[in-house]
Amino acid sequence: MELENIKGIGPKTANILRRLGINNSYDLLTYYPFRYVIIKRTDLNDEKVILDGVVESNAVVTYLRNHKDKMQFRLNIGKLVDVVIFNRGFLKNKIVVGTKLIIFGKYDKKKNIIVCSDIKFGLLGSETKIEPVYHVTTGINSNQLNNIINMVDEDIIDYVPSYLNDKYELPSKDFCIKEIHNPHNEIMLKKAINKLKYEELFLFMLKMNYLKSKKVQDGLIRNVDKNKVLDFIDNLPFKLTLDQIKSVDEIYDDLTSNKRMNRLLQGDVGSGKTIVSFIALYINYLGGYQGALMAPTEILARQHYNNLVKLLPNLKVGLLTGKLKAKEKREIYGGLLDGSIDVVIGTHALISEEVKYKNLGLVITDEQHRFGVNQRSNLKNKGIMPDVLYMSATPIPRTYAITLFGDMDISSIKTKPTGRKEIISYLKKESEIKDVLTKMYEELKANHQVYVIAPLIEESEKISLENVKKLQDKMNLAFGKLYTIDVMHGKLSNKEKEDVMKRFKNNEVQILISTTVIEVGVDVPNATVMVVFDSYRFGLSALHQLRGRVGRNDLQSYFIMISDKEAERLKILTKTNDGFEISEADFKLRGSGDLFGTRQSGDMQFKLANLKRDFKMVVKAKEDSLEFMNKKDPKYQYIYDVLKQLDSLD
Ligand code: ADP
Ligand code: MG
Repeated sequence: MELENIKGIGPKTANILRRLGINNSYDLLTYYPFRYVIIKRTDLNDEKVILDGVVESNAVVTYLRNHKDKMQFRLNIGKLVDVVIFNRGFLKNKIVVGTKLIIFGKYDKKKNIIVCSDIKFGLLGSETKIEPVYHVTTGINSNQLNNIINMVDEDIIDYVPSYLNDKYELPSKDFCIKEIHNPHNEIMLKKAINKLKYEELFLFMLKMNYLKSKKVQDGLIRNVDKNKVLDFIDNLPFKLTLDQIKSVDEIYDDLTSNKRMNRLLQGDVGSGKTIVSFIALYINYLGGYQGALMAPTEILARQHYNNLVKLLPNLKVGLLTGKLKAKEKREIYGGLLDGSIDVVIGTHALISEEVKYKNLGLVITDEQHRFGVNQRSNLKNKGIMPDVLYMSATPIPRTYAITLFGDMDISSIKTKPTGRKEIISYLKKESEIKDVLTKMYEELKANHQVYVIAPLIEESEKISLENVKKLQDKMNLAFGKLYTIDVMHGKLSNKEKEDVMKRFKNNEVQILISTTVIEVGVDVPNATVMVVFDSYRFGLSALHQLRGRVGRNDLQSYFIMISDKEAERLKILTKTNDGFEISEADFKLRGSGDLFGTRQSGDMQFKLANLKRDFKMVVKAKEDSLEFMNKKDPKYQYIYDVLKQLDSLD
């Protein structure tokens, strides 16, 4: 119902409500309090009293100077007391014999007077009174908003099927909405909130299931000679691990069946996801379609490009980054449109308006959690119905994955290529820098290379740069005579970055000082030490990703965190190399925000539920919604209808 059609709401109030994002009666009913004030009856002897009673004498008002007034009346609270309150003279006509009142004030025993700071109409009842508090704006207060909400008289659809309401003893939605705005007591309020949370989660999971099932039938079917794929795998310079093979199989099945792929390929840093994605691109190419691989940074895009060109020399591969010259860009655009380019690798430039494909069949995004959801769907929309593969090096604990990525299939690479030694990790204080330099020197002497990480200070590029410079001085002092030191940071041009990377890769540079621009994907197997200054500035998962830059061959590698703060947290990394465990710890410490990028905030607008706090309920809702989907009970058509809205999306 429109706001104006609700009895008691005029145009002025309607405008105020709109400012709160409330546009109709449903919005009003679901504009939930963000907290509650619990009012408990106190004892008369307490310093501050909250009491209720019935008025025994009509209020009398005395007018004072400066428009002030003083109101007095007698209240029966089990015994008779005199009540005084200032500047509420306007309530005089409402405070008459028989009126029920709650008063907040101070009791003066000698005079038997309560001087009030506030009064409310009504009684506390036998239990406590719980008052809702809403986010409000000028022109309206919580109390007024609550009154307006209570004016809405409208049945509301309960999206929890009745058999589940029965199973969990959930109250009806109508009841819950009333209760959440006007709680009777804490127990009933909790029940109401629980039910509404469950409904949110149930619907969310139902939608996830639906999206997943919808993708089953409408994928591209490719005719691919599997022997060619196997040949390619046989000719790689290494043997694929079992998990890599399994992932390739799963992707092959998706790409060659009518199932539309919507798959997350997750595996720790260094687990070898890239080669799997290349094989996917190759399968897609053999099936006659163009492929796109999107990387989060220029460096990484370029690295992928160089590797792919080497491994698949017969394919025409384009590199598209934001910093190409206009002419170079046009060439790539042309090739993508006329189909002469088979695979394009790039940064988010791949999804800019101008890019049009002839027959895009597969889209892969590397380090998917770095992309916003919008960017991803934007890219998806460029093909007719391209298959999609997301890669992430932030392993997601299984339980979270099945829910958060409920609309995706997941391939996991759990074991690293053989021959790798566990990276040894240390946590050092700044005062122990000498130990760190010693370790660096040992490795440098052995002809290995070192990364030194200065944290990127997001708020200040200037400070980041200063940090890099300071470290450069330090390193020069210690090693400048013996080794070549270079720096890498966001201010460098592409050409410069590429140059530095090349020289580091060729071991012309032995110590690379960098902000986290190198965080993702960069591959220099001869680097065996990474030192991270001010490690406390990073999340555990981010540090674990950084750590993955070393330990990339059979040499023993070392990861050294330097920090005078947050030792407890950082210690986790010295104890485990298991990305799943680390992301679980990160999840517990920092919430899911970091882990899932905008997926959490953008796709899931829960009013009450919280994926982390209500996780048990999340899992239940997931199971229940699956079972419900399969029921296909016509009695619940009104719930299934909710899913139809989703057909126009995606
Ligand atoms: P990530 O999963 O972090 O993207 P990469 O794909 O960059 O990891 O792989 C890390 C390194 O391991 C690369 O140098 C890659 O060539 C190498 N690699 C990948 N798979 C294997 C394998 N099965 N055996 C040996 N080395 C491998
Ligand atoms: Mg990678």
